[in-house]
Amino acid sequence: MNCTKCKTKAVIGLPRHNAAFCKNCFNGFVHDQVARAIKSEWMFGKEDRILVAVSGGKDSLALWDILLKLGYRADALYVNLGIGAYSEQSHAKVTKFAEAVAASHGAMLHLHTVEQEAGAGIKELAQLIHRPTCSTCGTIKRYQFNRVAIEQQYDVMATGHNLDDEAARLLGNVLHWQEEYLDKQSPSLPASVEGFAKKVKPLYRLSERELAAYAVLNRIDYIVEECPMAKGSKMLQYKEVLNRLETESPGTKQTFYWGFLDKQSKKQPTATTMAEKDRAVLHPCTSCSQPTTAEVCSYCKMMARAGTAKS
Ligand code: SF4
Ligand SMILES: [Zn+2]
Ligand SMILES: [Zn+2]
Repeated sequence: MNCTKCKTKAVIGLPRHNAAFCKNCFNGFVHDQVARAIKSEWMFGKEDRILVAVSGGKDSLALWDILLKLGYRADALYVNLGIGAYSEQSHAKVTKFAEAVAASHGAMLHLHTVEQEAGAGIKELAQLIHRPTCSTCGTIKRYQFNRVAIEQQYDVMATGHNLDDEAARLLGNVLHWQEEYLDKQSPSLPASVEGFAKKVKPLYRLSERELAAYAVLNRIDYIVEECPMAKGSKMLQYKEVLNRLETESPGTKQTFYWGFLDKQSKKQPTATTMAEKDRAVLHPCTSCSQPTTAEVCSYCKMMARAGTAKS
């Protein structure tokens, strides 16, 4: 198998693009896909400061690497969830990667430790407040990323969601007709109200397999294991189904998700309309000032319940 572009020996075949690439041309392909995502969705410019949410996994570390190599100003935030060996290993991988990019690009890493703030790791915290672990985790991560982005004056927050993540999420939203989530399932969400950072997903054009290959070829040392709490999750089931379809018909995930984006862009309410809607229902939390629909935001409520449960 030879590289479609330069005809030297290929290291990876990409059936959905009917192509194969050598390492250099594959890196060029990956960078080009990210550059196209940033441009077509108006994500950010070279002057903007970007905060990347890193977990120690291949996608988020690859995203940080790619943005820096493309010449963007990108720092990162890691949230240590306090899930035993998984968190220890992912924390170590992130720290090692951060040291390397601090030396090569002057990029910096922000850290948030759930145990330090809540007095318990994510599993214990979820038990204490009688909520599922993943929804507790989601609330904490969303809150902390937004807090750091706003406090440290980043222009935009970037996450490592890839094509597989977005296609699986879309399948879940369609299966349950979650119209509100469908409306907001976009690779670029504007900062609709003051106090909320803009959120973007620059990897939405790349598959999980392509990002794993990018990480391996570029010697990015990432944590291979999934978070143990993800075991048996609906998202993993949807991914499995989509992988089966993809094997039978390469390009299925892309057609499904990009097709949805195309249709959304034609009917999508403008950013101004979305901002107007958000402004009508959101106001500052009386405890921390982050925008919320209730009097007190869900993060502050959660922390208050955890405090009461412990005392
Ligand atoms: S699987 Fe792990 S990282 Fe993902 S939401 Fe659940 S607890 Fe958080
Ligand atoms: Zn080549
Ligand atoms: Zn609050």
